[in-house]
Amino acid sequence: MSTIFGKIIKRELPAEIVFENDRIIAIKDKYPAAPVHLLIMPKKEIKDIQSASKEDLTLISECITVAQELAKKFNVQDGYRLITNNGPTAGQTIYHLHFHLVGGRQLGALG
Ligand code: 5GP
Repeated sequence: MSTIFGKIIKRELPAEIVFENDRIIAIKDKYPAAPVHLLIMPKKEIKDIQSASKEDLTLISECITVAQELAKKFNVQDGYRLITNNGPTAGQTIYHLHFHLVGGRQLGALG
């Protein structure tokens, strides 16, 4: 079943795209928790980090490379958080693996 992010990837829903190639897309979060709040994800529909296979690790490492580049582009390379929420207890709401890149303000303790 396609999620909101699946629909954004297929251009069925709008989003502010900040990076895209054949495998990865990065968008601005619609409800930002900080001045910089991006969502970086493989286009492949992987439910969450716990479901990722060994073959998916290449995509995940590419997400990290994209995050490094976007951190520079958005000028937060000296301080940001790269997070993925796994499951409802962790606050995951969209079941298409994505990494939050959050920065641009002093971040508090995780909790
Ligand atoms: P999760 O809670 O699954 O870790 O993260 C989902 C994120 O998607 C949240 O930070 C939420 O603000 C964001 N979000 C929810 N709906 C939309 C949408 O329609 N477009 C965009 N760009 N972000 C969304």
